[in-house]
Amino acid sequence: MTSNFKVKYDLIVIGGGPAGSIAAYTAAKLGLTTLMLEKDRDFGIPVRCGEGVGMKGLREFIEPDPKWLDNKLDRVRFHAPDGTLVPVNLIEKGAILNRKVFDFELAKRAAIAGAKVQNRCCATGMERVNGALTVKFEHFAKEYRVSAPLVIGADGVESRVGRWAGLNTNLALVDIQTCFQYTLQHPNIDAEFCDFYFGNEVAPGGYLWIFPKGPQYANVGLGISGDRAKNRSPKEYLDSFIYEHFNRASYLCSIAGSVPSGKALKKIVADGVMLAGDAAHQSDPITGGGIVSAMWGGRLAAQTAVKALEKGDFTERQLNEYTKSWHKIIGEEHNRHYRLKKGVHKLNDDIFNRTARILLDLPFEQRTLRKIFQTALINEPGLVVDIVKAFLQ
Ligand SMILES: Cc1cc2nc3c(=O)[nH]c(=O)nc-3n(C[C@H](O)[C@H](O)[C@H](O)COP(=O)(O)OP(=O)(O)OC[C@H]3O[C@@H](n4cnc5c(N)ncnc54)[C@H](O)[C@@H]3O)c2cc1C
Repeated sequence: MTSNFKVKYDLIVIGGGPAGSIAAYTAAKLGLTTLMLEKDRDFGIPVRCGEGVGMKGLREFIEPDPKWLDNKLDRVRFHAPDGTLVPVNLIEKGAILNRKVFDFELAKRAAIAGAKVQNRCCATGMERVNGALTVKFEHFAKEYRVSAPLVIGADGVESRVGRWAGLNTNLALVDIQTCFQYTLQHPNIDAEFCDFYFGNEVAPGGYLWIFPKGPQYANVGLGISGDRAKNRSPKEYLDSFIYEHFNRASYLCSIAGSVPSGKALKKIVADGVMLAGDAAHQSDPITGGGIVSAMWGGRLAAQTAVKALEKGDFTERQLNEYTKSWHKIIGEEHNRHYRLKKGVHKLNDDIFNRTARILLDLPFEQRTLRKIFQTALINEPGLVVDIVKAFLQ
């Protein structure tokens, strides 16, 4: 029987989430022979995501399609620990995706662009042989080997590619959000609003979200800082909240997962290897949002791969072009958000409550996310410069 795979490619992408599919799509469009391996049976399943995304960020990569867009939103409410409710003016419109369809469509688009895309392929190892990288993977209980001068590790938060390449991707507990989420049906779910709840009782060191996917049904989840999850799990926090707000809900799905919320990794490349998306800890430290930044990571890494192939130079030094472009477009902002996150973590419930009341006194048009952070952190002089840079530039 002949193999379904060539032996050599210009680029191997490991992982078929948003980072991997955009990397494979970009590389194939630019003429590279590209192989993308995905370990799961289906692209996009299981979903480990709240599926919330900004329209502007999304449009940079793909035109919105009702096929995978469950809901569009421009109304957000913040709930302070004492119950004060603040409607917020969302300048950038938001959307709730259907990632089962979205991720599948991204993978299909990469295939149509010319990449060889394959599900049920779990990469199990990587080694350097004669200057190229050989990737080992399992496909229906058979082992295969393929090689390429370049590999993009887009294998998510538990990335093994990073470790195989000798990159340090460890995270401190405080820089991990541990999450739990249900997709619920309940008559009290309002399809018009995204809701965010803050406070030590609800989600210590993080927040709880309600992202409505349609009438009466929503992703309801929370993330808490890893260092605060020792005595009570995210599921226990979430169950208490649901008991109080959505008693007797129907449960359509449940997921657990973690989101890196640390600084941008300094080293995301090694000789022949680039990491993108969650594998490179590219999700936003404040919001935990990682879909759009993963797509940026995938695109920039693929563009760098094209240049490396043109030059025949696959060294870390050459690939650092990716690190630089990532830092310029997203990484600098990411690090500012990290500093803000550190500030927000220090805030207690009283400050959240006070901030909510100050915001309520403002006219609705002035209640922007920028204003919220300004107000909450105004008594943290060390952070004023960061606030100004993050939100006023
Ligand atoms: C509970 C939760 C809620 C979230 N909510 C949001 C949100 O609302 N908005 C937002 O923007 N972000 C959210 N995120 C973060 C977002 O899901 C990720 O940042 C995003 O999916 C990162 O994309 P990625 O392509 O880097 O990784 P992933 O989407 O994780 O894709 C990695 C892929 O690699 C595959 N893979 C792994 N190992 C191998 C291997 N050895 N061989 C082959 N394939 C492999 C996996 O199966 C997976 O398909 C949330 C995360 C969690 C956990």
